[in-house]
Amino acid sequence: MKRILITGALGQIGSELTLKLRGIYGHANVIATDIRKNDSEAAESGPFELVDVTDLKTMGEVARKYKVDTILHLAALLSATAEAKPIFAWNLNMSGLMNALETAKELKTQFFTPSSIGAFGPSTPKDHTPQETIMRPATMYGITKVAGELLADYYFTKFNVDTRGLRFPGLISYVAPPGGGTTDYAVEIFYEAIKSGHYTAYIDKGTYMDMMYMPDALNAIIDLMEADPAKLIYRNAYNITAMSFAPEEIAAEIKKHIPDFKMKYAVDPVRQKIAASWPNSIDPSAAKAEWGFKNAFDLESMTKDMIEKLKKRL
Ligand code: NAD
Repeated sequence: MKRILITGALGQIGSELTLKLRGIYGHANVIATDIRKNDSEAAESGPFELVDVTDLKTMGEVARKYKVDTILHLAALLSATAEAKPIFAWNLNMSGLMNALETAKELKTQFFTPSSIGAFGPSTPKDHTPQETIMRPATMYGITKVAGELLADYYFTKFNVDTRGLRFPGLISYVAPPGGGTTDYAVEIFYEAIKSGHYTAYIDKGTYMDMMYMPDALNAIIDLMEADPAKLIYRNAYNITAMSFAPEEIAAEIKKHIPDFKMKYAVDPVRQKIAASWPNSIDPSAAKAEWGFKNAFDLESMTKDMIEKLKKRL
């Protein structure tokens, strides 16, 4: 990676990824793009261009203008929002990905796009979910993610595009708010714990999902993109995870820092159904073996850091 174009760069991941990459590869070499502009550091600290990922022409023009050698394609509609607007989600997630892959093919760039634990479904083994397993998701988000994994494989085998990808778990962070996923509760809970001392969870007790703290997710993207291609067997959809917990467990961890914190439940049937169709915990051993994936944060250290950082921000 030397000159990097990021789509959806002002979202939860892109807001932090853009800054981290600018620190490593140089500010002028990381081109942030999104369908909207704001006054965030990601938009202001280096090149920024308005790019709607459903517009192939503009994406190609921007990629050529900056002579990029890497495309990190983040723009997508997330799980809960996609269930509310399934046709829109299919169009955005699939045409955006095709356009980004076509641009990568034309300019012979490296390519990254995230898949998700949402690519698994109700018939997938729930515990220690293997890298290769049954994948029949029951959500539009999951359907676009499985199709996306296959498309990225196809562009590698058919057109020799250096495509790489990760199946992210729910990501926990304090810079940009999450964009409408099923695991968003694990971020909201921190904001509410600090602001009001209580939180109402829309996911039911006993519902386990994989999660990861954003610094580990950013390192995983960079480590995968810099990995020796000869070592990559599963290029496009490595299982990675750092922790698996249920709502009552993160609440108990927060209580260690905010003793009066209280949580109640008002389960949202739509997001609960999505959560129940996802694994309890996935097996990241292929990522560890092929490119040395590791995480620095677990539930305890993530909670401590989130509370410290968020208290300062709020
Ligand atoms: P987000 O919703 O926070 O950000 C998405 C960004 O895309 C937004 O800034 C939005 O303005 C932009 N966007 C929307 N439509 C666009 C369009 N037509 N053209 C260009 N930009 C557009 O999402 P995120 O959490 O940063 O996720 C990024 C990627 O990571 C997605 O593919 C998502 O599926 C995947 N992922 C995220 C998580 C997570 O927990 N955040 C977990 C698994 C996978």
